[in-house]
Amino acid sequence: MPRLLRNFDSVPAVRRLGTVVGVWAHPDDEAYLSAGLMAAAVDAGNHVVCVTATRGEHGTSDPARWPPRRLAPARERELYASLAALGVHQHFWLPYEDGCCTTADSAEATRMVQQVLDDVRADTVVTFGPDGMTGHPDHIAVGRWATVAAGRARRRPRLLHAAKTIAWRESHTDLHRRVPVFGPDGPQAVEPSEVAFALRLCGAALDRKMTALIAHASQTADLMKAMGDAAYRGWVADEYFVEAPPDWTAANGDGEGAAAGAREVR
Ligand SMILES: [Zn+2]
Repeated sequence: MPRLLRNFDSVPAVRRLGTVVGVWAHPDDEAYLSAGLMAAAVDAGNHVVCVTATRGEHGTSDPARWPPRRLAPARERELYASLAALGVHQHFWLPYEDGCCTTADSAEATRMVQQVLDDVRADTVVTFGPDGMTGHPDHIAVGRWATVAAGRARRRPRLLHAAKTIAWRESHTDLHRRVPVFGPDGPQAVEPSEVAFALRLCGAALDRKMTALIAHASQTADLMKAMGDAAYRGWVADEYFVEAPPDWTAANGDGEGAAAGAREVR
């Protein structure tokens, strides 16, 4: 267990992450996968920045009541409230349509992410791994953009991919059967020895993550109800990250052209 959680609650380890930039696909991804990390980094005095590729405007089972023109601003507000609960005050939107990241111009998207990484002088980039956590195509595309951008960024930031461990997956097998967020087999998972950074939240730290998740009510309220409060709390308490090599192979590849700037909202 110490190996699995070797950086748990370690302020020096969090400080060494420096300026942390999370790059995610939809509002709520950042809260599920890194709220604890972001809060710990803010508390340690690190600069924390969040980038979100889409407004998540199609993230509803009731599009008649929540058409994209109404859901997009609602999810913007949810994201700002969620980040505020964690003390994160610098955020950038990329201009992509929810569900369409795989058909976006990946060269342009990668340049926009790299521009943010360079502008804020990122030391650590946190994003999806190749599995996209849930397998969502937007997650996979955005993780790829961030991974390539990290390889091109001037400061050569450390790259962490969000992950789950085999033990975590096994401990939630019944829950995943009951509420199939990941499909019947659960998420892809890694051995404990592969985990570079992990947090197990409890007490006030877990309360804070819950506040950040509850702020994304359009996405989280039904799931919380389906799982039950205690099961949901246990389900979101652990955060795992694996060390990922930034993608150097595409360092010179994607053609030329000025990227439209990501829009910053402080
Ligand atoms: Zn998502």
